[in-house]
Amino acid sequence: MVKDINKYVRRAILQLTPYSTARDEYQCELGIFLDANESPYENGYNRYPDPHQKALKAQIATLKGIATDNIFIGNGSDEAIDVLMRVFCEPRVDNVVAIAPSYGMYKVAAAINDVEMREVQLGKEFSLPVDELLAAVDEHTKMMFLCSPNNPTGNAFEREQIMRLVEAFEGVVVVDEAYIDFADVESLRSEVVSHPNLVVLQTMSKAWAMAGLRVGLALADSRVVELMSEVKYPYNINVATMQIVSELLREQIDDKVQQIKQQRAIVEQTLSESAVVRKIYPSQANFLLVKVDDADAMYEFLIAKGIIVRNRNKVRGCEGCLRLTVGTPEENGALLKSILEYEKSIVR
Ligand SMILES: *Cc1c(COP(=O)(O)O)cnc(C)c1O
Repeated sequence: MVKDINKYVRRAILQLTPYSTARDEYQCELGIFLDANESPYENGYNRYPDPHQKALKAQIATLKGIATDNIFIGNGSDEAIDVLMRVFCEPRVDNVVAIAPSYGMYKVAAAINDVEMREVQLGKEFSLPVDELLAAVDEHTKMMFLCSPNNPTGNAFEREQIMRLVEAFEGVVVVDEAYIDFADVESLRSEVVSHPNLVVLQTMSKAWAMAGLRVGLALADSRVVELMSEVKYPYNINVATMQIVSELLREQIDDKVQQIKQQRAIVEQTLSESAVVRKIYPSQANFLLVKVDDADAMYEFLIAKGIIVRNRNKVRGCEGCLRLTVGTPEENGALLKSILEYEKSIVR
């Protein structure tokens, strides 16, 4: 079924005349540029960045095996989430559906945009509640947020199940793949060319080790990318960021990803023998969600040892759980040592 994604776009965005930058109106590498009121004194940063990020998109296109037309680059995935909300959801009229527990930004972006968020709890063992998600949809539902591998549960959903939602739901299905590089399952990005309502989010913040640079991707149908590009700030990715990201993308991450996966297995194995650990959820990401006897007490104990983990005890569905990011072997060793100390301190 061919879906007309334009039906889901806010009228204001369809009618928008986007800002046209000086560089949109005239593009040339060489020349005397007196069109953008920039300073003429070269310091490496005196010129505005390319609003279309052509060079970086070409590099990412090669890396991901996807056309440049299918790539939106955001100031972190967080920008992509907010821009999607503004492209598709009419404040106080439309709603979005999302899985829960999941990444907190979907809810925040919806709240900021005054868009109702309908959360659907994951099923047993954090399975994807396909039928419940579809049941939450009404005529004002514009988007559905999924995250696979999911944060904070760590599991990835089956491709067939996600694609069932993409087929059955007419609006936009956002699949956040922030942790895909650590997963054994394949990315859904190859599906965006044949599914105009699928948006795959990826990020440079996790496996690519560039959280400080703020670069996230939305991989989608070219029309969706076009709409998102009209709504974003024209110069959302700055010159310094583009240069550094471009350099760092030339480095291989495979060894580091392998190392983190190995470390994940070691931490999991060691924790499984701990008397204070009740359950370790299987993870396809660079963290482990661990259910312990007293999450708050263990969290405070670790803080006192200078080890900061994420306490998810108050998150519905994650009661009693801590989320542990996999660090270097030394960091993980320190974590495991402290957990052993904690165990001894309460057994006594
Ligand atoms: C960390 C994370 C991101 C990354 O967001 P950025 O803004 O790109 O740093 C996106 N989605 C999920 C689910 C995450 O956990």
